[in-house]
Amino acid sequence: MVKSEEGLVIRSTAGFVDALVGDDVVRCTIRGRLKQLPRGTDLCVIGDQVTIDRNDSGTGVVIAVLPRHSRFSRRQPGRGPNKEDVVVANLDRLLVTFSYGQPVFNARLLDRFLVIAEHQGVEPIVVMNKSDLRQPSETDWRRRYEAIGYRWIDVSATYGNGMDELSEVLEGSISAFVGPSGVGKSSLINRLLPELELDVASVSDHHGKGRHTTRVASLYQVHGGGFLADTPGIRELGTWALPLNELDGCFPELAEHRSACSFRSCSHTHEPACGVIEALEQGWISKERYESYVRLRNGEPA
Ligand code: GDP
Ligand code: ZN
Repeated sequence: MVKSEEGLVIRSTAGFVDALVGDDVVRCTIRGRLKQLPRGTDLCVIGDQVTIDRNDSGTGVVIAVLPRHSRFSRRQPGRGPNKEDVVVANLDRLLVTFSYGQPVFNARLLDRFLVIAEHQGVEPIVVMNKSDLRQPSETDWRRRYEAIGYRWIDVSATYGNGMDELSEVLEGSISAFVGPSGVGKSSLINRLLPELELDVASVSDHHGKGRHTTRVASLYQVHGGGFLADTPGIRELGTWALPLNELDGCFPELAEHRSACSFRSCSHTHEPACGVIEALEQGWISKERYESYVRLRNGEPA
């Protein structure tokens, strides 16, 4: 006998997915007919809500993927077809992770993550690891982002600072750590979920090959009823389906000054009487953030 049930995809590979149905993890293939639908996006990824048919042997078949309320996705990296690469579906919080010390903080890349989160309706939180290595001059970064309204949490996976605040953020929602490799994402997950025992490489290993290929995208259950996604290190981050005229709306502090522009379709780069450029000159918008905006507009890499 076959029965249809709803599940949450917690692991996804090329050949199968694991769906959490109640307390059971059910290994599923994907119905052939679903794969034939024309699509420019990934069919079934971690975070997706699915309907499965479970058979007597305990395995299942995904027969439907429910519509996503949000997602974290990017342009498929590399030179392949122009396609959306959905990293996590139905994500509530994007934990954009960087670190003090090494690797050096990349504000440009942070801004890209923030833009994608704004555009895709996911709440971003900046998680700055290795707070044990923080230099006095580096407190300005935090101030810059908090002034815009972003939440910023300083943590140390090694010493445990800030981990209580981070745990609270994870409760009851689907979150994902994203960020470059070497900032300590695995170390943070290991602190939060020691039973997983993920590999932690030394920073020098990150320059070697082979580490990026190992992990399968997974969602882990956290204490307090939430889920945490482990994603591979992201070095390449192209925005997906973000029209140029929506870009300023993804910089909250720029959007605030848009109404003062003379031209409705103002690009805030060269037009006269531009509210954004005026705000920049007044020092209300940071030069760094404005430069991130211009670089994204021009399609330049982070
Ligand atoms: P990932 O690539 O983002 O998953 O990073 P890893 O978790 O593998 O950590 C990279 C390196 O940073 C390892 O050598 C860790 O020991 C080190 N590291 C992680 N967290 C901290 C921290 O809070 N402080 C310091 N000083 N080093 C850390
Ligand atoms: Zn303008």
